[in-house]
Amino acid sequence: MGRRKRNLKKLSSASQKIGENKISEELNSDEKEETKQKEENSFILEDTIDVYQRVRLPLVHSMYDRSPDDSDEEEDIVVLNFSPRFVFVSNLCLICMERSEEACESCGLVSYCSIQHKKQGWPKHRELCKVLTEVCTNGGGFSFLPDLTADDYRIYRLKLIEIVEHRLGRLLDPWEKEILLYPRICCSCRYFSKTLRYCPACGIELFCENHDDKHEEWCRDFQVFRRVLFMQHRNGNVDPEIPDTFQTTPLYLPNNFDLLMTQLYSRSTYYCNMDCYTYCSLSHISTIPLTTLYSMQISCQDWKTIDTFVIHVIGAEFQFECINLHVWEKFFLHLLPNLKHLRLMFIGPELRLPAVPLDLLTAVKICSACKSINRRVNVSFYPEKFYHNFCHSKQFIKPHLICLFNPGLYRETGFEGKDTWPETIKEFCKIKVPVCVTSYTKHEIPREMTRIKSIIDVETILEPERNPFASIKPDRNFVSDDTVPLIYKNYYLAIIRGKS
Ligand SMILES: [Zn+2]
Ligand SMILES: [Zn+2]
Ligand SMILES: [Zn+2]
Ligand SMILES: [Zn+2]
Ligand SMILES: [Zn+2]
Repeated sequence: MGRRKRNLKKLSSASQKIGENKISEELNSDEKEETKQKEENSFILEDTIDVYQRVRLPLVHSMYDRSPDDSDEEEDIVVLNFSPRFVFVSNLCLICMERSEEACESCGLVSYCSIQHKKQGWPKHRELCKVLTEVCTNGGGFSFLPDLTADDYRIYRLKLIEIVEHRLGRLLDPWEKEILLYPRICCSCRYFSKTLRYCPACGIELFCENHDDKHEEWCRDFQVFRRVLFMQHRNGNVDPEIPDTFQTTPLYLPNNFDLLMTQLYSRSTYYCNMDCYTYCSLSHISTIPLTTLYSMQISCQDWKTIDTFVIHVIGAEFQFECINLHVWEKFFLHLLPNLKHLRLMFIGPELRLPAVPLDLLTAVKICSACKSINRRVNVSFYPEKFYHNFCHSKQFIKPHLICLFNPGLYRETGFEGKDTWPETIKEFCKIKVPVCVTSYTKHEIPREMTRIKSIIDVETILEPERNPFASIKPDRNFVSDDTVPLIYKNYYLAIIRGKS
């Protein structure tokens, strides 16, 4: 921990230097002076740059020219482009996502950066504003908030959505629901007022007269959150260049994402200049293969030499686990030189494939070096299927490793009203191979372990620990927002194996 802090201090000036020209308007003159002085020795040699140090950097440009790649003949590779939806944050402008200065005078629940944007937003906001004002603001719907327990507060917000939808005569869009799920109230006592102050550092969390600071623990994460949303709103999705290195001996992962990236990118300009949004996106699309590789290295003795590796991903969700499949080649085939064939099988009742020909969805672009020696990544999907049913089907192939990413096994609400986890848990433990389980928070992972152990006897290969390859892209949390306001995919990791 000591080392990490030291790096942080040393590097805050270095990382500012990196993007100096483009962000100079954001630095004050003292900082500029300091940066100049350090110009000589600020180049990063051994240190890592974490996401917090990238918050002020402008959008990075691609490492390569996207001109025709002579090594690749034209292939039918489908590029699935899901443009990100608008995300509502109570203190960010409804039009441009800049920090707000003006709350809506009527409902007090949405805000704008300027009078100009307020005017511009009004025609679209009018209809919803009327209902929000009736239900929440004038109707007193928000006056009870401070007295509710955390659970009741969650139920209450869901109820408010229903009421608003009913009065409006239509369903709310996801971002409109967020107005009620994450409302513009004091984050400390839930007091609602049109005159709340925001945290000057992150610009997100709001405070009433009686509360301030108190959120030091989360402020830096909120700064990243705000920056990511802002850049996403401006630029749409970004497509980070995945570091591409061919290892001659199998690479044992360091247990630190920043360090691994520093190694793999060899501190290229692209890597050093990478802004926080691109960096978050990089970690978000890498967390699945890297968490898997990390688990493989912990739990499979022959990880260095094995030539065929089969992975089952249970409870997969298409938009998270099943896109960006090209990343697996870079992190498995290129880091493990003895691996010839990687087989990925995605199974889950909630796995729904987009209406695109299957051969396009499963096609993984492979580099010519891998192709020439017949190395491949083979992908198959088993949509709308329970794992316990899949296990008894003809398509079943015994895996070397099973993965469940953020599954929420402990929840007994189940799928379509039926709790089917016990059957699935029994089945994946019976195979007696390592099973990697992750969770969004530190509090969830012990509950996941308890659930598994309540069904079947298992041995623990890795006690729950902070996953070094968790996503660093923050999301708001609703399910346990009283303890953790922001969550990260694959935040905690544990590995178990069914006992014979
Ligand atoms: Zn604005
Ligand atoms: Zn309004
Ligand atoms: Zn308060
Ligand atoms: Zn803050
Ligand atoms: Zn390759």
